[in-house]
Amino acid sequence: MTDAVIQEVAPAESEAIVLPIGGMTCASCVGRVEKALAAVPGVADVRVNLAANQASVTRANGPVPADQLVDAVRSAGYDVPTHSVDIDIEGMHCAGCVSRVEKAVGAVPGVVSAAVNLANGKARVTATDLLTGSEALAAAVAGAGFTAHEAEDGAPEKPKTDLSGVILAMSAVLTLPLVAQMAGPLFGAAGHLPATVQLALATPVQFIAGWPFYRAAWRALRAGSGNMDLLVALGTSAAYGLSVWNTFVPGTDGYLYFEASAAIVTMVLIGRWLEGRAKRKAGSAIRALMDLRPAVARVLRDGQPDEVAVDLVVPGDLVQVRPGESMPVDGIVTAGESEVDESLLTGESVPVAKAVGDAVTGSAINGDGTLVVETTAVGGDTALARIVRWVENAQASKAPVQRLVDRVAAVFVPIVVAIAVLTWFAWWIGGGDVTAAAIAAVSVLVIACPCALGLATPTAIMVGTGAAARAGILIKDAAALERAGSITDVAFDKTGTLTFGRPEPVRIEAADGDADGLLRLAAAVQQGSEHPIARAIVLAAEERGQRIAPADAVRRVPGRGVTGTVDGRDLLIGNRAMMADHGIDIGEAGNGDADGPSPGATAVWVAEAGKPGGCLGVIWLLDQVKPEAVGAVYRLRARGVAPVMITGDAVGPAKRIADTLGIDDVLAEVPPDRKAERVAGLRRRGHVVAMVGDGVNDAPALAEADIGIAMGGGADVALETAGITLMRGNVGLVPAAIEVSRATRRKIRQNLFWAFVYNVVGIPLAAAGLMHPAIAGTAMALSSVAVVTNALLLRRWRPELGDDG
Ligand code: ADP
Ligand code: MG
Repeated sequence: MTDAVIQEVAPAESEAIVLPIGGMTCASCVGRVEKALAAVPGVADVRVNLAANQASVTRANGPVPADQLVDAVRSAGYDVPTHSVDIDIEGMHCAGCVSRVEKAVGAVPGVVSAAVNLANGKARVTATDLLTGSEALAAAVAGAGFTAHEAEDGAPEKPKTDLSGVILAMSAVLTLPLVAQMAGPLFGAAGHLPATVQLALATPVQFIAGWPFYRAAWRALRAGSGNMDLLVALGTSAAYGLSVWNTFVPGTDGYLYFEASAAIVTMVLIGRWLEGRAKRKAGSAIRALMDLRPAVARVLRDGQPDEVAVDLVVPGDLVQVRPGESMPVDGIVTAGESEVDESLLTGESVPVAKAVGDAVTGSAINGDGTLVVETTAVGGDTALARIVRWVENAQASKAPVQRLVDRVAAVFVPIVVAIAVLTWFAWWIGGGDVTAAAIAAVSVLVIACPCALGLATPTAIMVGTGAAARAGILIKDAAALERAGSITDVAFDKTGTLTFGRPEPVRIEAADGDADGLLRLAAAVQQGSEHPIARAIVLAAEERGQRIAPADAVRRVPGRGVTGTVDGRDLLIGNRAMMADHGIDIGEAGNGDADGPSPGATAVWVAEAGKPGGCLGVIWLLDQVKPEAVGAVYRLRARGVAPVMITGDAVGPAKRIADTLGIDDVLAEVPPDRKAERVAGLRRRGHVVAMVGDGVNDAPALAEADIGIAMGGGADVALETAGITLMRGNVGLVPAAIEVSRATRRKIRQNLFWAFVYNVVGIPLAAAGLMHPAIAGTAMALSSVAVVTNALLLRRWRPELGDDG
């Protein structure tokens, strides 16, 4: 009795999900994480344990996707440590398989997300660190009817002893006479092969070449679902069985369909073979990068070069690189001079001069000089390895539209079988001809395979992200790619993005006439700041041979300037707002709209606090516009995208630079913490906004934008928040990134369209008996090949660069 009562009060609780939580330092963090998790729909109760760094989440009823929980924790500012494993999955052929594997793997406790890619046969599983071992994953995959292997990390695939080529050839040779005798009458030849000869030709095709279909169909059935192998197995067995019946049972009409069963098996095998070849090509952009790693390095030991395997080189080793060789490691040049081709990292083929102190990246190709490089990173830590991982991640990710396709495909097979059965009944009842009914049903089964549908999106993403990477555009994932295609506005940070971020003083106006003295005072305070203006002032003072005094109590005021004490004087250095804050009268000089000594120069005032008339002078700095920015803005406009400039600089210089570039929309005097707000403002007006920045004080804006575009070589934070990274800070690639995204999206749409059309047109034709099963098999095979080949056309994409602006 009591049991029943308790049951009513507390509804059956489903099992709790346990998440590891990173970054909780105090009890108030517990509350924040609890609140964030409790806000996820479907969560009944949350308990966060600070000591164990874990959260235990109880669901109300129904599923709560683990990735939503992880997102909630992360947007609350904490982390859920996760790791990703790749597993190779054997036996997937259609879009339906994808959703089956994802569902099975996603149900394993600890798994946050699972993305299965039909194009490369891999699953990328992201799991919390509480997931123990990969056995659970393998078991889940097996339960769904497939076989899993842990993917080898980047290693080239070992060629398996593969009989499939031989079997394919045998199948084709045996099928040819069967098809030829059907086509024979067209060319005036008469007669058919005797039934027993036909049987002898068709049987090995059906059961030896066709064996993989039976095996995969059986596995799918055992897992309680259907796939395209099941459709092929059903279809060909029906045609074959009917023909055997008509061969041996007297009194039948004697029609034979051996050529149909054999042709379907052969054509589907040929289709898969072509598809496999094309898929390997789609992934080749990135594999080519891996192949460029040299296997040995020449390490200098006591000044003598010693050849060692690259894996044995450690950071700090001095490596000698001779002319024409590729860099075995990332490092800093310590001796020699050369020009280095870094095109595989940057997409830019102009060699870059390298001298002592310059950084070189592994796999770049050395020019005519011999270099000695001090190793900073090897193997998986090198820039190239990180890029390869990045691109592989992108290629394994799933486009939002693909989720829908997968759901459709999952219900496809049962629907097709139902249509086939209906077709059979309709023909049988309508015409009474059992044979014609069976043949129409077979055609339906074969034509309806959704394999082209499953390949349409992932192959385009693989090829598109690969082509982009080759050009120096790293796209984070398929979602970023899709969003980048619909960008309407590109907001540029000015300093370091549109300009070099290396301003130089062009005029110094000192109240007492001592320009060097003013520079020296300013430099003393600026030593404590990393701002490009600060670095410029310090550098200028050093170049003039000034002894820079130490400063005390240096304080940075973001978006305004710096304050500090030098020789007992409280100094203020910064823009108009900074001076206004401290009640310093600066007169009319350098007000927002007037040009300084040169158009676009920025005024930096130096003043002493608390003194009437404390303004000591102005330093004017000019930052040069990057030449490629002109072409970038021009090409954006040509593509109907609106360029916007966001900067903390004063209106005057900001406008001048915007005019040079042809940008009409300028948001100036925006303090760093407001940049994100301005981006949000643009988004609220319904624009799809990309923010381009170097991550120096614009990381929040990058994160706020629909898509963040980071300049490679900028701050590392930027790379993490960015959806797209442009190698070597080339803003010229911004329109190219939009272009490649649009091109990929077009391919996805074309592919989906054709894959759907093929099924939509094919099924009724087959049901109406207007399509011979052999033709249906050929059409199905060709549809997959066509979709993959269409995606491969994207490999020809190249960015448009240069200043045609
Ligand atoms: P940006 O958008 O160009 O990155 P910031 O927000 O970093 O601009 O800075 C905005 C403005 O604040 C600068 O143009 C400059 O006038 C002033 N400023 C910021 N830091 C300093 C500094 N260390 N010294 C002088 N002025 C500064
Ligand atoms: Mg900046």
